[in-house]
This record gives sequence, structure tokens and C-alpha cells, in this order.
Amino acid sequence: MPKRTLNDIPVLPLRGRVMFPGTNASVDVGRLISLNAVKKATDGDSYILLVAQRDAEKEQVDSFGELYAVGTVCRIRQISRLPGSTIRLTVEGLFRAIIVREGIVGEIACCDVAEIVPDNRDDELVEAYFRTAKDIMSDICQGESRISKEAAAALDRCSDPDEFVNIAAANLKIGVVPKQELLEKERVIDRLKQLDKILNDELEIMRLERKINALVRQNIDKNQKEYYLREQLRAIHTELGDDESEKEELERKINEKGMPEEVREKALKELSRMDKMQTSSPDYNVLRMYLDWLLDLPWSETTEDNKDLDAAVKILNEDHYGLEKIKERVTEYLAVHRITGGLNAPILCFVGPPGVGKTSIATSIARCLGRKFVRMSLGGVKDESEIRGHRKTYIGAMPGRIIAGIKNAGTSNPVFLLDEIDKLSSDLRGDPASALLEVLDPAQNSTFRDRYLEVPYDLSKVLFITTANGLDTIPRPLLDRMEIIEINGYTQEEKREIAKRYLVSKRAKLNGIEEGKLVITDDALDEIINGYTMEAGVRNLERSIDSICRKAAVKLASGKVKKMRVTARTVEGLLGARRFDRDSFIQKDEVGAATGLAWTAVGGTTLTIEVSAMHGKGEVLLTGKLGDVMKESARAAISYIRSNSEEYGIDQNAFETTDIHIHVPEGATPKDGPSAGITMATAILSAFTGKPVRSSVAMTGEITLRGKVLPIGGLKEKALAAYRVGVTDVIIPADNKKDLEEIPKSVRERLNFIPVTEVDTVFKTAIIGI
Ligand code: ADP
Repeated sequence: MPKRTLNDIPVLPLRGRVMFPGTNASVDVGRLISLNAVKKATDGDSYILLVAQRDAEKEQVDSFGELYAVGTVCRIRQISRLPGSTIRLTVEGLFRAIIVREGIVGEIACCDVAEIVPDNRDDELVEAYFRTAKDIMSDICQGESRISKEAAAALDRCSDPDEFVNIAAANLKIGVVPKQELLEKERVIDRLKQLDKILNDELEIMRLERKINALVRQNIDKNQKEYYLREQLRAIHTELGDDESEKEELERKINEKGMPEEVREKALKELSRMDKMQTSSPDYNVLRMYLDWLLDLPWSETTEDNKDLDAAVKILNEDHYGLEKIKERVTEYLAVHRITGGLNAPILCFVGPPGVGKTSIATSIARCLGRKFVRMSLGGVKDESEIRGHRKTYIGAMPGRIIAGIKNAGTSNPVFLLDEIDKLSSDLRGDPASALLEVLDPAQNSTFRDRYLEVPYDLSKVLFITTANGLDTIPRPLLDRMEIIEINGYTQEEKREIAKRYLVSKRAKLNGIEEGKLVITDDALDEIINGYTMEAGVRNLERSIDSICRKAAVKLASGKVKKMRVTARTVEGLLGARRFDRDSFIQKDEVGAATGLAWTAVGGTTLTIEVSAMHGKGEVLLTGKLGDVMKESARAAISYIRSNSEEYGIDQNAFETTDIHIHVPEGATPKDGPSAGITMATAILSAFTGKPVRSSVAMTGEITLRGKVLPIGGLKEKALAAYRVGVTDVIIPADNKKDLEEIPKSVRERLNFIPVTEVDTVFKTAIIGI
């Protein structure tokens, strides 16, 4: 169809909404500029351009600049009068149009428009995105009343991707800005990509809402039920003339609970105080809740430790693939624990990037010992009272999270995981780290005092385990109490095995897929690992597998297919376009760009450093994600090259007449800034000499002013990153040679490590023609 154009079409500015083609809408019109536009339209052929105002609050429209440039040409179907001078229009959206000539804005605004015609609807990628969008949309429609039945049916019927975007956008409860973006995007693929993102967000929000609603309902139900039952009980007792019963019952429970004597006395004392109060008084409830806490806490309940070490080893192997060294250390720990009964044992701290199995190992330890397991995340805990509780005189007071965790465990000797101990922060509201220290200190924790409980609680039988992403933010005294066990990232093969043996079946089961109904082939797993995740652990891998399982579950449930097999070729249809390109890091040999290896909080990663040298006054410009330490090593690198310029064939004067621009695009800031030193030096020398850097080389090492290469940290993670992106040669400081042992054999076999002591060797290896 040729592109439609319309001249001198009247404009109806919309406030806070966006009109889409393929939908009908009613619009109330009251402003003079709009009434005039409607009149002009109905005097002619009833075409009118509906376009959103940039500022919905603005009453008056004075120029086209206040409107978006893209709107929808509509036909007016019906007009009805409302009280006052307002009218209600029913309009039908016809096509998207861009304003190509703006008229004068006065009592009416008119303009010329041209249709926006979508391109290549038949593309395969478009089809893939379209299918995903339809799938998610139908999930949203099924679970949600926010989209009308008619709209849901229209969406289901729709077979044209461009129309689908229009109808979906018109019916989603999202803001004007994202809607307008959807309206403006010209290419179908771009529109679908954006819609996909919005739909995924919607789905997430929907899930959250559902969860919150369920929680609220549960809470209300529980409170109401308790209140109702208690009142009934009271009424029965009054009827029967045995009014003392609540007190008696509590007293019996307190005596039977097996509390330490001090606690029992305290409980009885509070009970007799409570007994003297009116049941309607707030203090009565405070005391009642307090007694419930004392009664609910496990004072004497413990589980018997499973002492069979062989069984423990079996469980650790059952739950985890690989991680041999870690399992060994955990087994040793359990053996010592068995002998000492946990006395004075150090606290295990698993350190590593997200998704490498820290939490999962801790859960297994609980399973090995036959203990209950509780977990508390310390991420963002700022307030001491989150750990130690609030005094019960404080409104809404509760015990801290340690005591709450113990109550949930139901035994006084659970395995208690303190997650993300490195994310603990402190501010004016006290120092949670020192409260935690008390919790973890065997000299003090047998009489841990929670402010709410007021009586001591014995935490000495609890087996505490902690996790962290990195060690540098953990307060020293805490660090001293812990035995650090590092878990590094996985190789591609390890990830594939973990997925095959654990993640796929776990996720399939959670999504209600029967065994054997879903097969994900090895190359499909490789495709997911390489194309959709870039991580040290397997968290995103698990998420992607979950996403595939969700889609498979819908397909299987619909009965259209009996069994599903996901191959490398079908992954894209299920997960959308590839997010990472293996080759995007290393293209061809380039001048002024070198690949470094960095060690960040989320594992190892590659770091491309770009340098350009241009005519100027000898200035050095540093941009991108450069920490202070990195800036210093950049300066050291420049100084070294400058003092040895003759050797590399650079004219001394060049430095005075050249500006150097160093840029580190994207990527996380490395934990060990100086290790980018030799990479920067290489990129700088390449830029100065115009000789390219080999793209097959990655490097890491600190540089000194005299051109020595100093050792760095995190070699294993860095090597895994190099291996992931597919470089072949890795330059490392000679002093790090001893760390090579830690690197998995499969990685060592594929990478050629080149130990160096002088940056000069780096240049000769990495730069072509030096
Ligand atoms: P972390 O606590 O380190 O962030 P998790 O323990 O939450 O990581 O692990 C993420 C997911 O990956 C979990 O489902 C876990 O069971 C799985 N996982 C991680 N490592 C392994 C492994 N070696 N073998 C089997 N599953 C693993």
C-alpha cells in the first residue's frame, strides 16, 4: 500500500494518553482548540490527528513544540453532547502518522502528515519476538483483570505483529512516555523489542502484586481468626464459670516448655501482670504477644546431629557438581565438628560471585547434619535493631531477625546462614556489625540479649555460616572470626553439566513439567550459556532455563505438543534475540585497543581499553569507568613509554604535541585497579606507533615506572573470563605463575599463558611489529 499523506488535517491534543491505530476510544473534548478541530473535521471528511501533549498538565497549547511529532490519524465515528460545552467523541484509530509540516497554532491547529509504514513484517526475528510477546501477553491476560476480555480476545486473534503492538500498547496500563515511544518507533522489530521489555516488567509486577496480596490476606485471616477464636474461648469459659482458664493455660504451657529457669520466672511474672489488665487495653496485647514469643521460641528443642560422615559426603556430591576442593574442606569441617561438638569452631564464610552455589552448599551442610536451615540476608541492614530487636515498649516492637530466624527454625541448633555479610552497612542508628560480632562470638553468644526478649538466649549451639561476594568491605573483627572458603566461577563445561544434571530438572519440576517431557540439548545449553548469560556463576543460566520451562509448560498444557525438544536453533524463538556475542569483545587486530582482564565483585571479566592519540598540546584525558588507581597506572604507563620513546621509535617531541585520550568502555570497575597497567601501556604504545594490538591476546599485570610487571590477584577468575570470550594467549606477571595450578585443566589446556617480568616483553608479544 502506498504511504498515505493528508494535508491541513485538524489536530486534537491529548492530555495524559496516547491513541493507537486499530483501536476505538472515546475522548471528552472541552478546550476551544479541540472543539474547533472537531468542527473542522466534521465539516470535511471526519479525519483528525490525535497527538499527545508533552506536558499533560498544560491547559493551553501554543505551539507544535508542545506536542509530540507522531500521532494517530483517526476518523470520528460519533459525537454526543455532555453537560456544559463538553462533547464526547468516539474515534477509530486508522494509522500512525508523523507531522511533516506544522501550521500556525491559534484557535485551531492544523498540519500536514505522512503515514508511518512499518517495514519487513515477515522477518524471522520479528516472528520470534512476536511469538514471545504473544505468549507473555496471554500469561498477563490470563492472570489479570487489568486487561478487558474483549482486548484479550483481540490480542489473541491478532496475527500481524505491527497491529499487535498497537492493540497491546493501547491496553497496557503504562505511562505516556513508553506508550509514545512505542507509537513512534518505525521498525516493527524495534517496536516488538520494546514491547517485550515492557511486558516482562508487567509480568514481574503482576507476580509481585499477587504475592503481596496473598501475604496481606494471610496475615489478616490469621489475625482475625485468632481474635475470633480467643473471644469465643473466653465466652465459653465465662459461660462455664471457669474464667481463669487463659491464665491457667498459659501457665501450664510456660511450665511445660522447658525454658531456662530465668526465662520461666520472667514469663510467669509478665503473665501475672497481664492477668491484672483489661483484655481491651493495648498493654494486654503487648504482653500477650510477648508471652507468645517466649512460648514459640525453641528453648530446649534440638535436633540430633547426623554423625555419619560418609552419608554427608554423599549428600554433598548429590547436591553439587564439581567444587571438589570446597566439598573436601566442608567434609573436613564436618569431621572436626563431630569431634569437638562445634566448640570454638571458626565460622565458615563462602566467598565468591553470585550464583556459584554458596547458599546451596550451606543448605547441604544443614542436610548433612540433619539440622534445620534458616537464612537471613544482611544486604542493606543498617540498623542495629534489625539484629537485636526493639524494646517492647516501642510501638510495634518485635525481636530482631536473629531471634525471628531461630523461631522459624523451631530448634535451638539450626544452621543459620547470614547472607551477604559484606553488604552490611552502618550509620547513625547503631552499628549492626558489632551486634553481629556478639552473635558470632562464642564467648558471648551463649547469653545473647535481644532487646525485645529481655532475657538471654543461648545461640552457642547454632551453626552460623556466612556468605560474601568480596572480602574488602567486611569489618576486620568479623573477618578474624571466619574461615574463608573461596568459590570461583565455573567453566563453560561445568556450567553445562550443572544445567544438565540439576537446573533443568529442578526448573522443569517447579513448572509442573513431567519427567521426560522436556529435553534441552547440549548445544542448546551452550547457546544459552554463550548467548544469553555473561556471568561467573549459573544464576542467569538458571533464570533462562526457567523462562524456557515456563514457555514449555504453557505449550505442553495446551496439548498442541506432547514432548518438547529445545535445540540451539530454537533457543532464540524462546528467549528472544541473543544478548551477548562471543566475538563482540575481540574483533580484529586494532590500533589503540587492548583487551585487559579484570576481577570484579561479580567475577572475572574482560576489559577493553581504548586509546587515541591526536594532535594537541600534550594533555592526557581519561574517561569511562576509571577508578583513581587506574588513573595512576595510566600515568605510570605514559611515563614509562615516554622515557623509553626512542627504543620504540617515537619522536620525543611527539609527547608535547599529542593529546592522549584513554577510555575504558563499560564493564564493571575492577577490584584491583592497578592490574590494568600493562593493558593501558599496550594500548597507548599502539596508539602512538600506529601498530595494531593482536586481538587474540588478553593481559593482566601492574606496571611500575621502570617498566617492571608486578603480580595481581584473581588470576583464576580472569582466566575463566579470557576463556569465555575466546582469546588464545594470556599475558600474566611471572610472579603469578604459582597461581596457574588453581585454574581448571580444561581451561589451562585451551589458553597459552605467557609469564612476563618486563612490560617490554608485553609489547613485543602483543603489538604487531614492535
Ligand atoms: P550463591 O549463593 O552463590 O549466589 P546459589 O547457591 O543461590 O548461589 O546458586 C544458584 C543456583 O545454582 C542454585 O539453584 C544452585 O543450586 C545452583 N548451583 C550452583 N552451583 C552448583 C553446582 N556446583 N552444582 C549444582 N547446582 C549448582
